Amino acid sequence: MTGYHFGMLNKLGLLAIGMNLLAFGQVFDVVLSGGRVMDPESGLDAVRNVGIRSGRIAAVSERPLRGRTTVEVRGLVVAPGFIDLHSHGQDDENYRYKARDGVTTALELEVGVYPVKPWYAAREGKALINFGATSGHIPARMAVMHDPGAFLPTGPAAHGHATPEEMRAIEDLVRQGLDEGALGIGMGLAYTPSATHPEILSIFRIAADRKVACFVHTRSVGTAEPGSTTEAMEEVIAGAAITGASIHVVHITSMSLAQTGLALEMIDGARKRGLDVTTEAYPYTAGQTAIDSAMFDPGWQERLSITYKDLQWVATGERLTAESFERYRKTGGFVILHAIPEEAARQAIAYPGVMIASDGRMERGKGHPRGAGTYARVLGHYVREEKALSLMTAIEKMTLLPARRLESVSPQMARKGRIKVGVDADITVFDPAAVIDKATFDKPDQYSEGIPFVLVNGVFVVRGGELVEGVEPGVGIKSRLVH
Ligand SMILES: [Zn+2]
Repeated sequence: MTGYHFGMLNKLGLLAIGMNLLAFGQVFDVVLSGGRVMDPESGLDAVRNVGIRSGRIAAVSERPLRGRTTVEVRGLVVAPGFIDLHSHGQDDENYRYKARDGVTTALELEVGVYPVKPWYAAREGKALINFGATSGHIPARMAVMHDPGAFLPTGPAAHGHATPEEMRAIEDLVRQGLDEGALGIGMGLAYTPSATHPEILSIFRIAADRKVACFVHTRSVGTAEPGSTTEAMEEVIAGAAITGASIHVVHITSMSLAQTGLALEMIDGARKRGLDVTTEAYPYTAGQTAIDSAMFDPGWQERLSITYKDLQWVATGERLTAESFERYRKTGGFVILHAIPEEAARQAIAYPGVMIASDGRMERGKGHPRGAGTYARVLGHYVREEKALSLMTAIEKMTLLPARRLESVSPQMARKGRIKVGVDADITVFDPAAVIDKATFDKPDQYSEGIPFVLVNGVFVVRGGELVEGVEPGVGIKSRLVH
């Protein structure tokens, strides 16, 4: 309206009124009214009305907005939807737990997938939230070396050296996955301990050539040399320096335990020297993995500084003994490892630049509670109860930082992790005074609380604290190569 005067109702006046109606009288698909909008990119932390149209944020305004649907969110935080870089659970059951935990994009970047194209095709148009994956070195190695393992290798891909022909075939499959839109390369060196240092360098070189990151579970853990946490960190940081690859070290706490502080310093040092190295953590004092994987090859007690009673069998919740450990190692299955010091978890969650990622996977209600409660636990436990970090910093670690990690690879990610006009309407609305995880190690199948509204691409997937049935607004997040 500025610049116009309405002394009399002439043609110019009518035009101005029309423009005014166009600007301020428009009707949005959805309006989130009166919430505390928190945007980690701009630093905005103020009461605003958010207007959504055609799946995007179309207005962030102090003025009232008109919507076909208007939801009053006064007293609640309106944040960008949470982005989970490490989500093994990639089916409807897991997407439901994720949505109730405020996650709007769940990506399988550590293990990754092979083959990539059918993996995306199987989910497109059928997913509750956005999804995506890396091209996996582990599954490529399993395919080439005919490993019998289901999710992680248990045979030749874990314990066999690749011949030069096999190595070329593994590289080809990894490249093929990138050609098909994968978001980077997934690697789990602890699960493929017989993959040589030259093999790892050759995979890093592919990442450098394609300008994507390697998402790496490092080779070893513990203080005993050789094979320490420090040596394992040195391997991937050196690999980044040698090849020029970007790397993201997954779950820093479970690979560093009491040495988490040193591992974080090593990443800081690499970044100061100009390397592109990032990391992530989940807010728990236990990890989870497959009992028949190479993680439990002889010497695991010394490496992890734990013993049988620190292992919890996921299927039953029982703590293990020497006898049950041997029995289950033959049958295979998931086990929780109570091995991470509380101080390490707290330090990593609060540490500048460390992203939040769940490493979660639920199966028929069983699993590590991180699959259901990671994000609410950071907000409720570490922000509100422990005051280990500020609310804005926590939101940044869950939204903007993971978006930035991927946006040079996927233009879609440049439209996520922010609340501003033009971005995708992936939005999580939570009550900062009530948000909390409910999933526990003994009873993991419990949704988080205090997250009443979650939208994915402008569509409610959680409304009034309940999952919305019959909606599938999630889309595949792919690299620029296929856009
Ligand atoms: Zn891992």
